[in-house]
Amino acid sequence: MTKTVLITGCSSGFGLAAVGLFADEGWNVVATVRRLEDGAPFAGRDNVLVARLDVQDPATIEAAIQAGIDRFGGIDALINNAGFGLFGVFEGTSPEKVREQFDVNVFGLMETTRAILPHFRANRSGVVVNITSGAGVFGLPMSSLYNASKFAVEGFSEALSYELEPLGVRVKLVEPGGVLATKFGQRVGAEAAQTTAPEDYAPIIAAGETLFEGLRAVRRGATPADVARVMLEACMDRTDRLRWVATDDIKPLVALRREAGEDVYWAEMRKAFALKG
Ligand code: NAP
Repeated sequence: MTKTVLITGCSSGFGLAAVGLFADEGWNVVATVRRLEDGAPFAGRDNVLVARLDVQDPATIEAAIQAGIDRFGGIDALINNAGFGLFGVFEGTSPEKVREQFDVNVFGLMETTRAILPHFRANRSGVVVNITSGAGVFGLPMSSLYNASKFAVEGFSEALSYELEPLGVRVKLVEPGGVLATKFGQRVGAEAAQTTAPEDYAPIIAAGETLFEGLRAVRRGATPADVARVMLEACMDRTDRLRWVATDDIKPLVALRREAGEDVYWAEMRKAFALKG
């Protein structure tokens, strides 16, 4: 039977790539965007329904889910992909911006999940795939708020999986590293331009920039299509596996965080940022 997926944040990047991949693989896709005109690339595809969904606007979440069920007879998978990166020194970031980061990356994802759960429970089947990040695994300078939002998604998803597994609903986490060919970096730049940091922070800002340059240097050309393929794999997975690291660039840091032990991890990170031991 044909499966149906609803994806948030399909105007660009991973979401845009995922719509194409899932549709090519024979899935029905509810491709959700904040502005309907951003659904233009999917025009003419019978198995793609473009619907408006702003994760900060609960009425659009309900309407998009209902539209998908009406059109395709049901929804089998939800991919919570919408998000943005708020980088910069915490002290220089306004409380309004902090709230917006959580409204989109955390509360928006939670409310979209809450809205689909009655449908999944009724079917005793469904999968929720949450897109986190390497920033959901390890903390980095200038990333406290983005990190906090993605750590929150990791904890939420891990705990939620206990509640939902007995009901036939699976939870999956997809953790990409840096992928340049999306609009993520543009928004990061626009948001960072709105933060200012006292001069005291200059050394750690410089150390952070060196690390990000290093990460860019080891990127092995992962594309949005590569991440979309991992999303598909996570959707299809019938096991209880929770996490997928989606790109090679972060694999060494993820291994350091998860396998080397706390002391080794901290020693390496402090060395990387030239902090005194
Ligand atoms: P992107 O090209 O900027 O795509 C982000 C998508 O989220 C856009 O469609 C954007 O829509 C949407 N969005 C933002 N605010 C929204 C809201 N309030 N309601 C609904 N949609 C909203 O970036 P991307 O790289 O594909 O990022 C997708 C996900 O991957 C994000 O969760 C991001 O944190 C994560 N991620 C990205 C990277 C990376 O290096 N690219 C790495 C790790 C994780 P608009 O066009 O309307 O703003």
